Amino acid sequence: MSLFNCFKVSDCLNDYLLFFVSFEYIYLINHMNTDPKSQQTLFNEDLVIQALQSSPAPTALYTDEDMIIRFANDGMLALWGKDISVIGKPLLEAVPELEGQSFLSILRQVWHSGKTYSVSDAPAELIRSGVRSTNYYDYEYKALLDQHGKTWCILNTAQDVTPRNKYLLSIQQKDLREQAHIEAMASTLEELRATNEELSASLDLLAESREHVRTIIEQAPVGIAMLQGPKHIIEIANPAILKIWGRNKLDVEGLSHESARPEMAGQPVNKWLTDVFETGLPKVNNEFLVKLNDNGQLREAIVNSIYQPVFSSHNEVTGVLVILEEITEQVLERRRNEKNQHMLSMAIDAGGLATFYYEPETGLFSGNNLLKEWFGLSHEENVDLSIALAAIIDEDRERVAAAIVQSLDNQSDGNYSIEYRIQGPGQHSTRLVQARGKVFYDSTRKITSLNGTLRDITEQKKDEQRKDDFIAMVSHELKTPLTSLTAYLQLLERKAIAAENTQQQSTIEKSIKQVLRMNALINGFLNISRLDSGRMSLQKSDFDLQVLFHELEEEMTATIHTHRIIFESPEPLSIHADREKISQVIQNLVGNAMKYSPMGTEIVINYSAPGGKDVAIHVKDQGMGIAEDDQQQIFERFYRVESSQAGSIAGFGIGLYLCREIIELHKGVISLESSLGTGTTFIVELPLKISNLASF
Ligand code: ADP
Repeated sequence: MSLFNCFKVSDCLNDYLLFFVSFEYIYLINHMNTDPKSQQTLFNEDLVIQALQSSPAPTALYTDEDMIIRFANDGMLALWGKDISVIGKPLLEAVPELEGQSFLSILRQVWHSGKTYSVSDAPAELIRSGVRSTNYYDYEYKALLDQHGKTWCILNTAQDVTPRNKYLLSIQQKDLREQAHIEAMASTLEELRATNEELSASLDLLAESREHVRTIIEQAPVGIAMLQGPKHIIEIANPAILKIWGRNKLDVEGLSHESARPEMAGQPVNKWLTDVFETGLPKVNNEFLVKLNDNGQLREAIVNSIYQPVFSSHNEVTGVLVILEEITEQVLERRRNEKNQHMLSMAIDAGGLATFYYEPETGLFSGNNLLKEWFGLSHEENVDLSIALAAIIDEDRERVAAAIVQSLDNQSDGNYSIEYRIQGPGQHSTRLVQARGKVFYDSTRKITSLNGTLRDITEQKKDEQRKDDFIAMVSHELKTPLTSLTAYLQLLERKAIAAENTQQQSTIEKSIKQVLRMNALINGFLNISRLDSGRMSLQKSDFDLQVLFHELEEEMTATIHTHRIIFESPEPLSIHADREKISQVIQNLVGNAMKYSPMGTEIVINYSAPGGKDVAIHVKDQGMGIAEDDQQQIFERFYRVESSQAGSIAGFGIGLYLCREIIELHKGVISLESSLGTGTTFIVELPLKISNLASF
């Protein structure tokens, strides 16, 4: 049986005849003439089959839905890896490895639809010579239709294109690789660009920070120089170091340190530089004395200096960084202070002064050893103020605490001055001390401390007391004969008047004046001793100041002919004070005005009460005036101005002291305005309404 017979050629040849010449040019002749004569003339069936059979183009024919293999040429059998026995079998049975692949379903679709299916480079898994492999094919399922348009057979042609596919695949892969390469290159380029940008930003930053460092060096308050290499070539020298060196930038930069600063020859600096460069060890000097260039001369200076080796990235010394600070002034100042401090502590020791230090913020109280001894503290001890206050005797303690609070008050002038008694633990006698101190503030006006000294005035006070007792006693004893003397003189005066002996009368008058003067002096001394013993008391009453002025005017103008005494009292003024003592103060001030003014000059006494609260009494003269330095002290007891003019005028220096004490007992103030050679005005200010204040 010919191969051709097996697929019922007789049924279909009348409609179609397939003619395969080769896979590359297959053609079909549809509606072939079925006339046997013409058949014979045109084709011979066997020839066709033979041609198909021998065609290298794999070809197969299937019929039925199960794709019964009706024809498969050698090419197709080789493709499948099968032999002739597959003819007549359903495709899946003949080539079971096609199971699970899409061929059968496509064939069935072609079978039913009659539409040709062709595809290129499609994979197919087949087993050939026992080896399962996937190859690629261009294949076609061509439906051959009968005259009813129904598929009667499918012509399957195929070509193994695996090499081409592999080639294409390799090209594709190569393309992919190239694409990947290109992409990798592009991203490398991108990275390179970003790195480049970063690099240039870093370079900018570096340049900026270099500039920054340079500016810092230029503006640094200490001298900085950079010396390069073993010759110490000056690369950088900032203005501060040039000033210390006494050189200009242009004179030193680029030169070796040795040649730029010849004055250093014989001084150790050049050797230090070499040592630092060679050993890599820094050299630091404190308070070093050096001779520096000063306009061609040499000047001595004290400096702090650092010579720092500069290392390369290979850890080799490439240069030396010099940091130099001139501290001549500070050191000299410190030495002066040390000397002063030393002298001060010597003076404090010699003067037997105790020093104290109180810190309000912490309550810390401390001082020198003498202070600690007086307060019964051990030498190491710094104590709380309350413990120190405990050493002050009960009667004085509150007063001292109040004085400290007062000096620390914002409104006060920060001065602290007080006398008090202390009796440290285990001490048998009390010690009278005079404390003087001052409050110290920081730059924000915050109090930092109250510092001062204490002086032991126990003995001094006792001496003063003895002196006062003596004066009181002597004054008292003198007063009795003086009173008798006054009485006798007055008796004599009356007799002289009666005898109309004017010469005698005038002599007696002068004697009485001298006795009165002496009496006033003794009264002054008595008052002082009364003051000191606290026995001076005020006998206050309401009186009219105008009336007092009239009385004084009458009395003085009658007795004083050397000066023009002018009392101005335009209106009455009621005042509550000790009339006798206020009168005494005015007389004292007028007495002084006369003593210290040339004869014939004017002395004006007046008062005013502008605010209605205080009265101000003025005693104005045209005398010698008081120098500013003396103005602060003339109210002190026994103080007298030491000038050629004032020195020749008799006095004890107690008048103004008494005036001040009396005025202060009245809660008033006494002050003065004066200029040398022009005159002086004493001003007494008293509160008008002091009746509510306690009487002394
Ligand atoms: P004295 O007894 O020395 O006058 P005072 O205490 O009254 O004592 O005065 C103290 C010093 O003040 C005097 O020594 C004098 O130098 C000076 N003084 C007082 N009043 C006047 C004045 N009106 N003009 C110039 N100096 C005066």
